[in-house]
Amino acid sequence: MSKAHRGKGLRDQVSWGRGTCPVCKRDNVKILYELEADGNKIKICKTCKAAVAHGKKSVS
Ligand SMILES: [Zn+2]
Repeated sequence: MSKAHRGKGLRDQVSWGRGTCPVCKRDNVKILYELEADGNKIKICKTCKAAVAHGKKSVS
């Protein structure tokens, strides 16, 4: 499970885990972290995951 978000671990993800983050709307960032919001899982970037974890951002 180590380095699941780097290198070879990204190959099985859509476009190597890159996309637009639904929280910060940044494009071509790595969308690697699953988050539960309103009962469904969304994938967000590392920065937003950290922000949500620290209560600086809220999802939906
Ligand atoms: Zn983000």
